Amino acid sequence: MYSHIVDFHVHTDNSYDGNHSATFICEQAEFNNLRAVAFTDHCEVDRCINDYAHERAVFQTFFEIAKVKSAFRGRFLVLNGIELGQPTFAPEIAERILGSQKFDVVLGSIHNLRDGFDPYYGDSFTEAGTHTFLKEYFYEIIQMCEWGNFDVLAHLTYPLRYFFAKSGITVNLNDYKQEIDEILRLCAKKDKALEINTAGLRQKLHKLQPETDVVKRFRELGGKFISVGSDAHYASDLGKNIPDAFKSALDAGFDSITLFQNRTPVQMSITEEI
Ligand SMILES: [Zn+2]
Ligand SMILES: [Zn+2]
Repeated sequence: MYSHIVDFHVHTDNSYDGNHSATFICEQAEFNNLRAVAFTDHCEVDRCINDYAHERAVFQTFFEIAKVKSAFRGRFLVLNGIELGQPTFAPEIAERILGSQKFDVVLGSIHNLRDGFDPYYGDSFTEAGTHTFLKEYFYEIIQMCEWGNFDVLAHLTYPLRYFFAKSGITVNLNDYKQEIDEILRLCAKKDKALEINTAGLRQKLHKLQPETDVVKRFRELGGKFISVGSDAHYASDLGKNIPDAFKSALDAGFDSITLFQNRTPVQMSITEEI
């Protein structure tokens, strides 16, 4: 049994698709005996180009997290994070946001391509369409890794949730081996953590994202840091399936996971008490 459940990918109602306040989530975290929570509300950088209200929500989150950090001090660790979507689509905005506050952790994500299409909103997909999408999707992740101003690469296989849920399409990642190796190599070289995201286990996909073989490959290519997160958008999903992510990390040869404080990695043993 793992004695220290943590969750480093959590959304509050300051995310457009979040449902619960930071305070309510912290109460849940304490009730469930979590040791650490990183709040990582969305900031879709490409959306900030024309939507200042979206960028302003980042400040709202920051103040709320500061409040819960103080209210729950000594009970468990609260980290102030952000999930930065598509930072390379408007890097000057991304840098401005990152420079505006002191974050503990920055998740780097790609949800949509440059045309704005996010598979979360798609109705159905074809095999050919998913292939074209994924080629471009992994290319954008490579660009984001080259840019590099983030700490954790979030949900590397994000689109697979929707390709499977909406059209039953299962993707063979060997078709993208070259791109994925490039991503993992860059993350390893730049000391980025690879996130094991458990949201897929709560959805039709029913898999960790990425799966253990990819985590193992990250280690082979020199990767050192692993993060874990539920991607909870409801308080009830907080910490869900984190033991599965721990097991995957152990199976892939990692005996620690990493939390970031002031954007500095701190290793936590998976099996020992902290
Ligand atoms: Zn995301
Ligand atoms: Zn998220």
